[in-house]
Amino acid sequence: MKNRFILKKLPIIVWLLFMGSMAHAAQKSIRVLIVGGGTSHDFDRWYKQADAATLSQGGLCKVTYTANTDSIAIYLATADVLYLATNQNINPANRAAIFAFANAGKGLILGHPALWYNWTDWPEYNRQLVSGGASAHDSYGSFDEEIVNLNHPVTKGVEQKFTLKDERYHYLADPAGPGIEVLANNHVAGSDVIYPSIFVVKNPKARIVCIALGHDTASHDIKPYQTLLRNAVKWVAHQ
Ligand SMILES: [Zn+2]
Repeated sequence: MKNRFILKKLPIIVWLLFMGSMAHAAQKSIRVLIVGGGTSHDFDRWYKQADAATLSQGGLCKVTYTANTDSIAIYLATADVLYLATNQNINPANRAAIFAFANAGKGLILGHPALWYNWTDWPEYNRQLVSGGASAHDSYGSFDEEIVNLNHPVTKGVEQKFTLKDERYHYLADPAGPGIEVLANNHVAGSDVIYPSIFVVKNPKARIVCIALGHDTASHDIKPYQTLLRNAVKWVAHQ
């Protein structure tokens, strides 16, 4: 009798389970705000289009893009992750909103243009959220990347070594910052100097991943970069 009941109701049960899993999948999409715009880069092409497509694939993220830094605070109200990839000015109210977001324990991805020392009147940004920054880079060219921590969720599935063309940022850590954990660094033939490319900033409240790569197509369109970006967003969003 019990079995007959279950059999009779089976299509309904299957349908409910299916709808439940669909709702669960929809719920799990990470809401990412990408902030681009500024100088020296094709922000629309590499951040609004390429990275947004990489993150949206398979429903991983629901991406909002803006190049209007005055709207950061408004968009952050409904975001799980802030992906900052701009070198434009950000006004005090929106600077405060970024810090409030970090202090609330949300996730941050800081991309190539945002790892520069862009804002001399906002030293707290570089010190606390980047734990340093770059004010120089090699000329655009080829260099080698090496993942130095293969056990971190951000580097999962990424080949240990790969070569790409980019601007090799001369990131220098600020001793007054919270410090970094290097996940990948780079070196160029003929030089002993290595710089970190992918690293976690040990901010006491927020999860922050910095991605120094990203000048143009040679990084945004390669698999290792795309995997690192997707992994990084998942990790900072605690997924
Ligand atoms: Zn660049």
